[in-house]
Amino acid sequence: MTQADFTLASRIRPSHTACMSDSIQELTARIRMFVEARQWEVYHNPKDMAVAIAAEAGELMQHFVWQQPGQIEQRVVDRREEIASEIADVGILLFEMADILGLELGEVMAAKIAHNEKRYPAEKARGNNLKYNEF
Ligand SMILES: [Mg+2]
Repeated sequence: MTQADFTLASRIRPSHTACMSDSIQELTARIRMFVEARQWEVYHNPKDMAVAIAAEAGELMQHFVWQQPGQIEQRVVDRREEIASEIADVGILLFEMADILGLELGEVMAAKIAHNEKRYPAEKARGNNLKYNEF
C-alpha cells in the first residue's frame, strides 16, 4: 500500500464499524425472495445477469471517468452514497448470479483469494503493480 493509498483509505473509511454480520447466505436468500416475489426469474438468466453486472460496474466507473488523481479522493468523499449504491448493485447481482449457478459464493471467493495469494506472493508483489507473469 502506497502512502497515497493509505491516505485515501483513511479518508473513505470514517467508521468501518458498519454491520458485517449479514452473511452471504442471508443476503442471497433476501435477494432470491425479492426476485421471486416479482416473478423476475425469467429475466435473470446467466447471460443477462452477466450483462447487468457489467452495466452496474459501468455505473460505478462513471463516477471516476476523467477524474484526475487529485479529484478522485474528493469524489469518493462527495459521492460516497452514490458510489456505495453502485457497489451494492454489483454485489447484489453477483450474489444472485452465484445463486442461480448453484455456486457457494464464499467458497469460490475464498478459493480465488487463495489462488491469488499463491499467484502474487507478498515478497514478490509488495510495492509494485506487476502482473504475476512479470515477476
Ligand atoms: Mg446502479
